[in-house]
Amino acid sequence: MCPSIYTDSQSAICLLKQRKPAAGYHLKEKFTTTLSHAIENPVATEETIRAKIRWIPGHAKIPGNEAADKEAKKAAKDGSSPKDQLPPALHKRLPFSVKAHRSSVVNKIGEEWRSDWEESPRKAMFDAMGESFPFKTHHELSRTLTRAQTSLLLQLRTGHVPLNKYLHRIGKIESSRCEACWNSHEEEIPETTTHYLFECRKYRTERTQTIDNYLSGSPRTLGNLLGDEKGAKSLMRYIARTKRLKATFGNVTPSKD
Ligand SMILES: [Zn+2]
Repeated sequence: MCPSIYTDSQSAICLLKQRKPAAGYHLKEKFTTTLSHAIENPVATEETIRAKIRWIPGHAKIPGNEAADKEAKKAAKDGSSPKDQLPPALHKRLPFSVKAHRSSVVNKIGEEWRSDWEESPRKAMFDAMGESFPFKTHHELSRTLTRAQTSLLLQLRTGHVPLNKYLHRIGKIESSRCEACWNSHEEEIPETTTHYLFECRKYRTERTQTIDNYLSGSPRTLGNLLGDEKGAKSLMRYIARTKRLKATFGNVTPSKD
């Protein structure tokens, strides 16, 4: 008796041709045992079984193949048939392939990490920082900055920081002008992020000791400040000393200050 088996699985055919133990080899043994039962010759071995394995294209409306596909999907969805209806070789649970198991665990961890990261405000900041952002991974980032510092940096970068220009734009206050400059010089200067960080006369001393000290002559830009951790810290130090955003972010002084 020489049965023919048709399959659309090229990897199964490769495995059956495989002479040396490889990933999935235990499945080949199960297959041989099951086949020998099927041809009612329990002592048949791989060498003595004569069976033709033929490849057929999948999803080509070949009735037998469609039926097998349907059964396979059913098994994947509803689980295995009762034990007594299975061929003897399949009564015991199939061992895991260590390699397949490992890569599925690694994938799962990767997926979980990615979905946490996608939802994290730190990612939004990381994206907003673009290439100028100094920290290579979010692990480094989380170690270096507190939550408040992180969201502050994000808001500075996106311009959604609670300074008058933004507060006016979202309808929270009447005027976008910098009150400090208005009080001392009666000048209507909108309090933008740039004005607050780099221009406002009220914070000249604080700026000299922190931002300017770090930049030592380089142009005053957020990008230049966020070139490395030291720069980011000098920015935090400036903001902490001006106390301008304290109501929203608390004390953002870097830890080693
Ligand atoms: Zn000002």
